[in-house]
Amino acid sequence: MRKYLAPILLAATALTALPAAALAEPLKVVATFSIIGDMAKQVGGDRIDLSVLVGPNGDAHVYEPKPQDAARIGEADVVLSNGLKFEGFIDRLVEASGTKAPVVELTKGVTPIPAAEDEHGHAEAGHDDHKHAENEEGHEGEEHAEAGHEGHDHGAFDPHAFQSIPNAIIYVANIADAFCAADAAGCDSYKANAAAYTETLKALDAEVRADVAAVPAEKRTIITSHDAFGYFAKEYGITFLAPEGVSTEAEASAADVAKLIDQVREDKAAAVFVENVTNPRLIEQIAKETGLKVGGALYSDALSPADGPATTYVDLMRHNIRTIAGAVTGS
Ligand SMILES: [Zn+2]
Repeated sequence: MRKYLAPILLAATALTALPAAALAEPLKVVATFSIIGDMAKQVGGDRIDLSVLVGPNGDAHVYEPKPQDAARIGEADVVLSNGLKFEGFIDRLVEASGTKAPVVELTKGVTPIPAAEDEHGHAEAGHDDHKHAENEEGHEGEEHAEAGHEGHDHGAFDPHAFQSIPNAIIYVANIADAFCAADAAGCDSYKANAAAYTETLKALDAEVRADVAAVPAEKRTIITSHDAFGYFAKEYGITFLAPEGVSTEAEASAADVAKLIDQVREDKAAAVFVENVTNPRLIEQIAKETGLKVGGALYSDALSPADGPATTYVDLMRHNIRTIAGAVTGS
């Protein structure tokens, strides 16, 4: 704030009237979760007052909004969300907030990957508005352990598009466009920040590709808790197996786990990984039953807290590939 307040006050003394857009109020931005919060910070810098709903290590799939979240959205100038039904809570929260702010889905322009078809019926193509409650899953003959979430909305697409760096570059362009639309006076600054950050992301993308290339082809199959890495898999050529689908809402059944253990044997998975947003118990069980070692924690859907290894998106991607490469090559 202070950085640009002073020049604006100087300008104010020189002009008789200031256009409203030049007033030194920061742009109030709400980001739904930590990863896009970091991207917003990179683009917005000092010009934005950022508020993040689902913080470090938080699971946006099952997040239960707090009353102050509606108030924050109600006061926002711009709301940034992932879209593709990543945030199960967002539609109801936006409605409850009565906000007039644009709610910008950062996956706009991304080529979505269909959610893996599985026996839960999580990925029903053409049913992206289909809402089904826990008890309806019972009608499908599933034995789901219920996580205690009343009703949820599964998309037809895998929402974790940010796990591909080329997609992250699209998110950044969408953020700059959204900020420019809401704060024309800051547009040059947003565009310059977005351009610089995009260069950083391109370098990171090259780094991830080089790290993957160093992993022997037969060691590029690994296991995580939920299907959060479909875009990473497609972009970089690592195969991920997971007992849970693209959302963490429904726990894996015993049959899902048995099937995965069979797959592990067939695919010769090289390692298993816990995730920062999910309970490690199931992965520990799979490790025990298959004899695979737990190779560490991957940051799937959230940044780490300040004392962790993934406090920014760049560090998150770097941490994940280094953890995978280190575990499967034993380096
Ligand atoms: Zn997820």
